[in-house]
Formats: sequence, structure tokens, C-alpha cells
Amino acid sequence: MSRLKKELIVSDVEVNDAGAEGNAIVRVDGMVVFVPYVVPGDIIDLKIYKKKKNYAEGIALAVKQPSPLRVKETCQHFGVCGGCKWQTMQYDAQLKYKQQQVRDNLERLGHIDTSRMQNICGSDNIFYYRNKLEFTFSSKRWLQSGETRRDDDPGAVGFHVPAVFDKVLPIEHCALQPEPSNRIRTSLRDYAIAHNIPFYDIRNHTGYLRNVVIRNTSTGEWMVIVIVADDRPDVLTPMMEHLKNEFPEITSLLYIINTKFNDSYTDLDVVTYSGQGFITEQMPRYGGGSPLHFKINPKSFYQTNSAQAYKLYSFVAEFADLKPTDTVYDLYTGTGTIAQFLAGMCHKVVGVEYVEEAIIDARENAHINGFDNCTFYAGDMAKVLNDDFVSQNGSPDVVITDPPRAGMHEKVVEQLLTIGARRIVYVSCNPATQARDLALLSQRYNIGRIQPVDMFPHTQHVENVVELTLRS
Ligand code: SAH
Repeated sequence: MSRLKKELIVSDVEVNDAGAEGNAIVRVDGMVVFVPYVVPGDIIDLKIYKKKKNYAEGIALAVKQPSPLRVKETCQHFGVCGGCKWQTMQYDAQLKYKQQQVRDNLERLGHIDTSRMQNICGSDNIFYYRNKLEFTFSSKRWLQSGETRRDDDPGAVGFHVPAVFDKVLPIEHCALQPEPSNRIRTSLRDYAIAHNIPFYDIRNHTGYLRNVVIRNTSTGEWMVIVIVADDRPDVLTPMMEHLKNEFPEITSLLYIINTKFNDSYTDLDVVTYSGQGFITEQMPRYGGGSPLHFKINPKSFYQTNSAQAYKLYSFVAEFADLKPTDTVYDLYTGTGTIAQFLAGMCHKVVGVEYVEEAIIDARENAHINGFDNCTFYAGDMAKVLNDDFVSQNGSPDVVITDPPRAGMHEKVVEQLLTIGARRIVYVSCNPATQARDLALLSQRYNIGRIQPVDMFPHTQHVENVVELTLRS
């Protein structure tokens, strides 16, 4: 990326489209310029500061005429924080752009017939919809332009500033998770400052308080994981006691000692300070009956927008069109949530996932929900899903696949073509790789209904469910 010797200023240009990474697109003399924090239809004065072969990057110096799609931002951190970049765009317009993003990817990259694409399913809650947030404490507060660092500045707790690894934007109020999420974070911050507990400095490996992870369920259970730099009970115990006393809502209060140089905690022990070591989410059962229960451990994955997860899975169930005699494979099963969502409607479900701990959770949850027809295997999909596996578990009548952003390994797609299940339901968080995989699957499958689902309002992310039926 070359930085322009002289920045280029263009006056009164229209913002044309919503583009990658949550940025908008402005076309200047045929060149695509990515610009954050503006809305299609805005007329802006644009500064272009970086130019590459195929595109450029710029910022809006002024919005001369606001787009009719504009709404006022909700969050005080808009414009600095990298999250929720679309929040100044009306929600209906956000949905329209997401639908278009899915359509464009499927048609252009996969040459997929999108004639049976249904209207995107929006989120009922467009703020406070997340059930998990992770905040970082840093001795280095991100300074806004014009600010200088004071010697007595304790630092900040909040989110990493995009592309800056050691600096943290102080967050006062985040509109993503319901209360007491904000109150827990700010109370921990204020306690630490009042008691001279230093925030961590990831560059020099000094300081004590590193991260706080806050998770909740729709039934009102709260898990708080405090992550600190070393084992100092004299400091840690009173701090945990403070949270315990201030927040009776916390049902699972945990801590992790992280002496490593990086923030990942997947390989570290979690200690229960008070309450239980887990929280339990409930999800309505498709077709009615008592709700499903999902036990969530501190390291378990669970869809972060619980209400939308139910809607997403309901489309999966609809497109799967199960018979009571069906054998179902749930590929990339995570903690087995889709498997269990479907288990009551078919003969058996076989889930595959490479995170061992997730498989342990999946088995435990299936037991809690009373399913004895679910089997879970841990391993890399491209290796696990072979002929032996299929003969051992029975050939599937229906396959659900929900791969990560990279999509499915080619071997997995080939195996699915060989297996020839009656139906495949493909859930994806990346319509580009989904388009590639669907194009390959089209050798033997017809593309049916296509259902985009919005799990993450105010971001460019979109989930998409596709129904495939075997050609006879
Ligand atoms: N279906 C689940 C989770 C989907 S996320 C749900 O709805 O909750 C995708 C999952 O694929 C993750 O759990 C990830 O760990 C798993 N995964 C990624 N690559 C994999 C691979 N090569 N083999 C098996 N599982 C994989």
C-alpha cells in the first residue's frame, strides 16, 4: 500500500455503496475508494490518503449533504471504535445491503441461480443483542487527536483500536450487551483505579489486570471471567469479592491467571471463585415442547445473538425437511446445538467438530436434553469424513454443514458429492466461500431456497442458509 505523497482531496462526491469491512464505497474517476463511517447517498468531501492498484482508502472530511438513509448514531464511541460501523444507516437499508451482498456473491462468484432467495430475516433487537463481550485493560489508553498522555493516566478498559495491538479505546457504554455488562466493566475499572491495581501493558509485560469476559443468557444468568497477570491472592481476592458483592446477578464468577505474553486463554485453567463454573442457556424447541438447555462453559462457543440463533436454526430445520427415519450429519457442529435442535425430529444425528472441548460439551448437553440418538466425533473434517466413517455411522439422508469463514475443504465437498445425501443445508457466515462450494455441489444438487439472516446488526456480517436437493 503506498501512502500518497500528496493527499488527494475531492469535493462533493456521492457515496455509492456499502463495501468490505464495514466501509462504504465512493467511486472517483473509476477508482474504488473505501471510506469508513459514511452512508450510501451521503455527499461528502473526501480525502484519499492511500492508493493501491485496484482500490484506494479515504476518509470523509465533511458530510455536505446527508443521505436519506442516515440516522443519528446511538453510541458515543461511533467513529473511533471499529465495531458497529453501519449504525448511522437505517436498519432497513442495512438489511437491503446484506441481502444484496449475498446475492452478488452467489451470482458473481458461484453463478448460482438466486431466484428462490427469500427476504433477509432481521434481528428483533438491533442493540444489546450480544450475549458475550470481551474487554481488554491496557495501561495505554488510545488518545484522540489533540490529547497528550498524562503521567498519572491509569490507562483504559475497552476494545482494541483496529490495527493497533497495544492501545485500547476506553469504553464508557457499549450498546451491544444488556446491563449490567457496562456496570460490571466500569465497576471493575473504578475499583482497580481506587486500589492502585495497575492495568496490563502488553508491550512491557507489566501491570496486573488484563481482560474481562462477560457472558449472559436469555434467562438472566451472568458469567464474568477476570483475567490477571499473576497469582496474587492479596490483590485478586478483594477484587473478586467486590464484584461478588456489587453484582448479585453474577451466577458464575471466575478468574484466570495468564502469565503468557499473549491474551489467548484457551490453554489456561479457569478457576471458579463463586457460583457455578458455567451458565445455562435455553432455546425454544422447534415445533414446541419444553425448551432445550445448553450448558455453556467459559471456553465454549455459543452463537452470540441467542434470539437470532433460534431463527437461524428454524430455517435449517425447515430446509432439512426431516423424516423420523432420517440419519443426519451435522458438520462443524461446535457444541452440537444444531444437532440437538434437530435430534427430536429424526432417527439419529452424527456431529463432527475439531475442538475436543466442544465435543465434550455437545455430549453433555445431549445428555441433559435427554437425547440418546446423538453421536459426536472430534477431528478435522477433511480427515474424519471418509468412507469408513460413512459405513460406520450410516450414510446420511440429510447433511447440515456450517463451516467457518474459509468454507469447506475441497475434500469435504468431494465427499459430500460422493455420499449423495437427499438434502444438504448449508449455513455460512461468508457468502463468498459459500458461493465457491455451492458451485461445486451444483454438479449433483439443485439450489433451492436461500435465506439470509442478520445476526449482527450495524456490522457488514451476514449469515446465509441454502437448501440443496439431490438431482434424481
Ligand atoms: N454449528 C455450530 C458452530 C459453527 S462455527 C453452531 O451453530 O453453533 C464453525 C465450527 O467449525 C467451529 O466450532 C469450529 O471449531 C469448527 N471447525 C473449523 N474448522 C474445522 C475443521 N477443519 N474440522 C472440523 N471442525 C472445524
